[in-house]
Amino acid sequence: MYEKLKNIIKKSDNIVFFGGAGVSTESNIPDFRSAKGIYVHSPEYLLSRSYFDSNTEEFYRFYKENLIFKDAKPNDAHYALAKLEKLGKLKAVITQNIDGLHQKAGSEKVYELHGSIIRNHCMNCREYHDLEYIMGYHEAVPRCRKCGGVVKPDVTLYEEMLDMDVFNGAIECISKADVLIVGGTSLVVYPAASLVDYYKGEKLVLINKGATSYDSKASMVIDARIGEVLKEVTREL
Ligand code: ZN
Repeated sequence: MYEKLKNIIKKSDNIVFFGGAGVSTESNIPDFRSAKGIYVHSPEYLLSRSYFDSNTEEFYRFYKENLIFKDAKPNDAHYALAKLEKLGKLKAVITQNIDGLHQKAGSEKVYELHGSIIRNHCMNCREYHDLEYIMGYHEAVPRCRKCGGVVKPDVTLYEEMLDMDVFNGAIECISKADVLIVGGTSLVVYPAASLVDYYKGEKLVLINKGATSYDSKASMVIDARIGEVLKEVTREL
């Protein structure tokens, strides 16, 4: 099974992986858009910059309950990608996820399009704070250890611009890639689809449970769980 993909991987030393929420759900991190609970507002509004600015305490309540899973561990997909990078086959991971699990698995070149829960900065003096500081803080809104300013996660909120350095870096990797493997996303949400358009090669591999909007343009479509597929195709490398 998966012989064709195994061969593609075997022959290439310029693979780029682009992953969506499906990569994290296999680590039991649910999509926040399906957040359960009694909330007056939509998850998108609760995670917007205007909500952060106007209701910081409520923002953090929702954020900590629905976006932070401290015990989440990397899954087979994360480990397989880290292995491909160490073997010199994978140039970069581009992810829409904010959980930091790729780095936890050992990946080094990771473009986090929407930032990361791991990094947090004081809005006043830019002092760095880690996730433990945020979660262990004695009040709902974490304040800077240096100046007392409000600390904000380095996560791209709704209404905020993407980090253009990260975005442009991702575009560059994709446009130079020999193989592009896209996993765990149906490619309907911006900027996912637009990024795939930068790929110029002929080996676009889509791995997703369910159809994606790019199935007709791909050279290979695998309708299966991303962790299972990547584990299998990297087993003998
Ligand atoms: Zn500060």
